[in-house]
Amino acid sequence: MTDPGLRPVDLANQPAKFQDRYKVVHKLHEELVRLKGNKYAKKLVKLAVMLEAKVAKSSKTAQTYRFTVNVLIRDLINHKGNINEISIAGKPLIPGKQKAIRGVDGPILEDVNKIMEALNDLLLTPEQMEKNSYITRQQIEDFNLEFLNKVTFESKYVDCFRCKMKFQRSDIKKEVMCKYHPSKKQYNFEGKFYDYPCCGETSLSVSPQRLGCKVFKHHVFKDEGYTLLSKISPFSDTKNINGLSNVISIDCEMGFTTLGYEMIRLTMVDFFTNRVLFDKITRPLGEVLDLNSEYSGVHEIKDSDSIPYDDAMKEILNKNMINKNTILIGHGFENDLNVMRLIHDKCIDTAVMFLRKGTYKQALKDLAFKMLGVKIQTGEHDSAIDAITTMNIVKKHLNISIDRKEWN
Ligand SMILES: [Zn+2]
Ligand SMILES: [Zn+2]
Repeated sequence: MTDPGLRPVDLANQPAKFQDRYKVVHKLHEELVRLKGNKYAKKLVKLAVMLEAKVAKSSKTAQTYRFTVNVLIRDLINHKGNINEISIAGKPLIPGKQKAIRGVDGPILEDVNKIMEALNDLLLTPEQMEKNSYITRQQIEDFNLEFLNKVTFESKYVDCFRCKMKFQRSDIKKEVMCKYHPSKKQYNFEGKFYDYPCCGETSLSVSPQRLGCKVFKHHVFKDEGYTLLSKISPFSDTKNINGLSNVISIDCEMGFTTLGYEMIRLTMVDFFTNRVLFDKITRPLGEVLDLNSEYSGVHEIKDSDSIPYDDAMKEILNKNMINKNTILIGHGFENDLNVMRLIHDKCIDTAVMFLRKGTYKQALKDLAFKMLGVKIQTGEHDSAIDAITTMNIVKKHLNISIDRKEWN
C-alpha cells in the first residue's frame, strides 16, 4: 500500500505539475528503498519528500527540475544512497561533508602571489601524469629502438575508435559501413543490462540496430602513446621557452582525419583577465574524415577562417603565451596536450582534481553543474565556453572571484 505521506509538499512556485512531482517523489522513494533496503521503506518516505522539495525549490523551470532530478537519482545510485555525498544544484545536502567538491573554506583569495601558490599546489605530480596517460619527458627518454620495432608492427593495424573493428591504416580512405552508437552505453541497474541513450537499444536486443544506430562511411582511429603519436607529428617541449609565469586555460575540439584524431579548434583563456588569448579553427595535417560536428561544433574548415596546425602552434608557443613557466589548466587535459603534441610540466587537470570515489573522472558538464550550477554542452560543445568553465571550476575551488578582471 502506498504511504499517504508519499506526496510532494505544497510550494508557492512549482516548477512542474503536481502530477509530475508526485511521480518524482515515488521514483525517489523507490530508488532509495532499492539502495537502502525494504526495512527502511517507511523511514525513507520523509527523505524522498524532502529531496524532491529541495529540487523543486532550487528549480525555476520544468526543464531544470527534470535535469536536477536526473542528476540526483544518478548521484544517489553512484553513492549507494549515502546522502552525505549528495548535492542539489551545487549545494551539499549535508554541509561540511563534501570538502573535495566544495570551494576551499576560508577567505576569498585576492592576492596574486597567494593565488599562484595555491595554483602551484594543484599541479599534477609526475605520478599523476603517468597514471592519466600524459606524455612526459621521462617517457620520451625511455623510448628506444627496441620499442620502435614493436611499434612498426603495431601501427600497421588499428582498432576503429567507433566500431572497434581492426583495419589497416592504409585503408583509412576506403568506404565501409562503420556502425556505432554515438553515446556511451549505460548500465541499467533495474534490468541489469546495458542501454544506449542515443537510441534506446539495449544489450538484450536482437535488432541489427543494436550494433549501432549511426553509420559512417569510414572507420576512424585514435592513436595513443608517444611512439605512435610522434610518428604522425613531432611533440614540442615547452622547457626551452623562457617567459614570465602566467596561467592559461585551454580547450581543444577534435575531429577524425586520415592521420587519426586531430585538433580542429583551439581556445586559450587568460586566468586573471578572463581574456580570450586565442580562439581559432585549425586545419589538421590529415585529410578530414569527420569533424564530429555534433560534439565539436565545427561544421566546416574553410581556408579563409582557419589556420594550419603548425602556424597555430607557432603562435601560441612563446614568452607571452605558453612558456616553461606557464600553468596550464584543462579538463581531461591529456587529450588536449596530445592533439597539440605538447610536453608541459605545469598542468592542472580538473578531471583528476575531482575524481569521484578517488577513481572515476567526471564529465566537465557534470562538474560544471555541481560546482558552478551552470549547464554547458547541452548541444554542441564550444571550446571557448569549456575553457572558461574549467577555469571557473578552479577559481571556485580556490575561492577566487570568477568575474574579477583586474589584479594588483
Ligand atoms: Zn545508438
Ligand atoms: Zn568502424
